[in-house]
Amino acid sequence: MHDVLPDAMHLWHRLETTVRETFAAYGYSEIRIPVVEKTELFARAIGAATDVVEKEMYTFEDRNGDSLSLRPEGTAGVVRAVLQNGLLYGPPLRLWYVGSMFRRERPQKGRTRQFHQVGAEVFGAPGPDIDAELLAMCQRVWQGLGLHGLRLEVNSLGTADERTDFRKDLRVFLAARRDRLDDDSRDRLERNPLRILDSKNPKVQALLTDAPLLSDYLGPESRAHFAGFLELLEQFGLEYEVNPRLVRGLDYYSHTVFEWITGELGAQGTVCAGGRYDGLVEIQGGRPSPGIGFAMGQERLVELMKLQAEPASEVPHVYLVMAGSGTVRGGLVLAERLRAAVPGLRIRSNLGGGSFKAQFKRADRSGASLALVLGEDEVAAGAVTIKHLRDEKAEQQRVSLDGLAVWLENWLNN
Ligand code: ATP
Ligand code: MG
Repeated sequence: MHDVLPDAMHLWHRLETTVRETFAAYGYSEIRIPVVEKTELFARAIGAATDVVEKEMYTFEDRNGDSLSLRPEGTAGVVRAVLQNGLLYGPPLRLWYVGSMFRRERPQKGRTRQFHQVGAEVFGAPGPDIDAELLAMCQRVWQGLGLHGLRLEVNSLGTADERTDFRKDLRVFLAARRDRLDDDSRDRLERNPLRILDSKNPKVQALLTDAPLLSDYLGPESRAHFAGFLELLEQFGLEYEVNPRLVRGLDYYSHTVFEWITGELGAQGTVCAGGRYDGLVEIQGGRPSPGIGFAMGQERLVELMKLQAEPASEVPHVYLVMAGSGTVRGGLVLAERLRAAVPGLRIRSNLGGGSFKAQFKRADRSGASLALVLGEDEVAAGAVTIKHLRDEKAEQQRVSLDGLAVWLENWLNN
């Protein structure tokens, strides 16, 4: 579990602001749900025979013996919340959330035990139109963040019935190759062979090349849904690849599934994943209602932003140097006035006194472009001295307090 340190915070904020604004443009409302839920909620929703439920959840007993778990993902809790609060069964409901999730996985690059997801869920919309719109919305987030080179993989998982036949044939195929499976996959062979398609083991993946394909088991309705989805993606100008082996790590998906993948983060390259889960509301005890959603991994996106995006930085524009009697109070009040007068201007005032020399050193280290100098001379003259810290040719100059806000505004916008 990692700390998010101050030097990365502007990227987290940029990600969350972009998401908030983009999702609002598509009519989504935010929901906040608890970090802890009853264990059985996740077991039922995610599937008992999944890695997440079998070995990754942080589960504990409450004082009265209830089994509780830290949430490993957001969808199960959102479904519980919309059912419990009577939000379903009206017009389609578009929701989004952001927050920390917990899975006791083997920590590695791009995989931590506490991580953060931004997710969206839509209820009450059965058609492929919303599937495609969700992906257009993702694409708009990538654009807003300045990210490029994300590949979209899509597949259809059909319905539970269609998967039953497929599962039988897949099991027969894999059982014939049992000795070449790893322990995990052998374990899953009886209980949940579809999960083997999601194996991260390259040897197991190689074995799957000739395995039966789920797409051959889909009936006309599932095919029509998938075709309608792909057609809309094309109309939106979204590039995609059909990956017939794409399944999702959680059990509740049906029809459309998708992942956005980058080649720039190594093995943990999936930054967003999701799909349709038409059966989930019923599994949770509600009247059936179709659903679809996705979750973006914030840590992975922030890493990618570091590699690709322009830094929207927290570096100050101006460092305020104050030395001499009366200058600190005058300087801090001045800084307040300037922040109010010049939108977007970042001023860092010197803390803890120090000589001019010591303060200029700090100004330099702060990365600021300008030092605003307030000494006793300046106070007497009703002015400040401006020194250019990054431009050796620019002369220092004195600017009167009256004209300072306008001067800074011009400087900032040029
Ligand atoms: P993976 O195949 O990488 O294990 P998953 O199928 O378990 O992913 P989801 O449950 O669909 O992932 O979660 C959606 C996204 O959340 C992932 O694509 C990833 O970006 C992020 N994510 C999932 N688990 C972790 C983790 N342990 N650490 C960091 N990010 C994660
Ligand atoms: Mg996983």
